[in-house]
Amino acid sequence: MRLDGKVALITGAASGMGAAMARLFAREGAKLVVADILEREGREVADGIAAAGGTARFQRLDVTQEADWQAAVEAALAAFGRLDILVNNAGISGSAAEDMFDTELWHRIMAVNATGVFFGVKYAIPAMTRTGGGAIVNMSSISGVVGNKKIHPAYNASKGAVRLLTKSIAVQQAEAGIRINSVHPGLMPPMRTSGATADPVTRARMLKRVPMGRSGEADEVANAVLFLVSDEASYITGAELHVDGGYLAG
Ligand code: NAD
Repeated sequence: MRLDGKVALITGAASGMGAAMARLFAREGAKLVVADILEREGREVADGIAAAGGTARFQRLDVTQEADWQAAVEAALAAFGRLDILVNNAGISGSAAEDMFDTELWHRIMAVNATGVFFGVKYAIPAMTRTGGGAIVNMSSISGVVGNKKIHPAYNASKGAVRLLTKSIAVQQAEAGIRINSVHPGLMPPMRTSGATADPVTRARMLKRVPMGRSGEADEVANAVLFLVSDEASYITGAELHVDGGYLAG
């Protein structure tokens, strides 16, 4: 098993790609902290992992709140004794925006998608350092590399911030044994908060720009993240992995 004996905390793990990662990591031997603001859905993911023979506990965590982060890392250490892996996956979409200059939405998206990742890194690294290091993956997007027509610019700005935050921490924390990389999914099943990118007409237009001609699946992203947090990626840090059917290659 590729994550045998490791402890992983995944944010936004109550649904979508975070839930897929939690199930996959558990099958690979990791003990999971399933963290989200959605309590019922998050508990269902943790219970499902336990029912399948894995180890998981739900932790309510709003990634925008430093006190929640402190409590979540402490709870992981209390339950499992260590923290080896963090996936900063929680996020909200900008594709439901009507007004591309909505200031309140700018602050909300930046708080969850960018500041939430900064807090995760800030509180996980001291815990990881206690046991000699760890691996972090930050979920960015193709929207962290290029612009989009129907998405609030805060989404692109937040995902771009995640991309460079990742490289900054990679350089600063390599000596502490921390590896950190970003993953950039392309057109995937819609997020809970999607608007335009859940619309069939917009999706069909976007699909025309995907060389592989189809959208991706949550497990295809989960497999990429699994590789990066596993020891197989032991010399990879500060990298960005595009899981986009070739979108950014075009
Ligand atoms: P999703 O909406 O299914 O999952 C996002 C999860 O984040 C939800 O469970 C939600 O409750 C949680 N969340 C939102 N705000 C939170 C907060 N403040 N604190 C804690 N949890 C919070 O979406 P998904 O498609 O699984 O997206 C996962 C990640 O991948 C996101 O960062 C997203 O931006 C990114 N991404 C998604 C797509 C896509 O097309 N679906 C493409 C590229 C990147």
